[in-house]
Amino acid sequence: MEVKSSAKGLISLLFPADCEICHHPLEPLNCSFICEDCWSKVKWLEAPYCSKCSKPFPSSSTLQEASYLLCSECREEKSYFEKIFVPTLYEGVMKEAIHLLKYKRKTGILASLERIMKRYFDHIGLPHLDLVVPVPLHRKRLRERGFNQAELIADIVARYFRLKLVKNNLQRVRATKTQTTLIRKERIKNIKGAFQVKNKGEFQKKSLLLVDDVYTTGTTLKEAARVLKRAEAREVYLFTLARAS
Ligand SMILES: [Zn+2]
Ligand SMILES: [Zn+2]
Repeated sequence: MEVKSSAKGLISLLFPADCEICHHPLEPLNCSFICEDCWSKVKWLEAPYCSKCSKPFPSSSTLQEASYLLCSECREEKSYFEKIFVPTLYEGVMKEAIHLLKYKRKTGILASLERIMKRYFDHIGLPHLDLVVPVPLHRKRLRERGFNQAELIADIVARYFRLKLVKNNLQRVRATKTQTTLIRKERIKNIKGAFQVKNKGEFQKKSLLLVDDVYTTGTTLKEAARVLKRAEAREVYLFTLARAS
């Protein structure tokens, strides 16, 4: 029985299934469910973009014009985070990859996502940071999914920068509806009171990097940042794998 299953494992390693995106056969030993050709089409976030939330500006705006500019939302809204660090756009292969990770539990994809993160981290300068904090899932959602994708990503970030990962201090105390179908006003109302800090002392006067898989409307991250600032964090920076344009 054991021999049989390890032989099966070896076969699937040497002859993995087809690429989940283009359906061409995967290269042997590729455990990421996506072929190298598709991975090479990742859309990196390119300037010009908002210097706070990284919202891409129309490519017609010149670099000089945009490099110090904030988008209208960042100019008008009070915000609780300093800025976001984000390597890619949430479309094409990244959208598929994050979807496969989150909803199809293909955690093998993390190794390829880690490669993308490292390529980005090798080229950026981060401010001084004390702790890495993943956006938590409500325990009901965690039970359904079996893992928190933000935690898996935050773990990679913490290992790369040799920072402490704090997993259970920021908590999701209220289950919320999926944000994607709601309009802005409803999203803000929906997320209010969803987060809570258990031990304020741990975050007090600390610079935090709050990590999630993707920044779409920003409502969830903004609310989590607000709660962290209320727990007297000195600064809150954000990191996500991808950003909606
Ligand atoms: Zn492919
Ligand atoms: Zn902005």
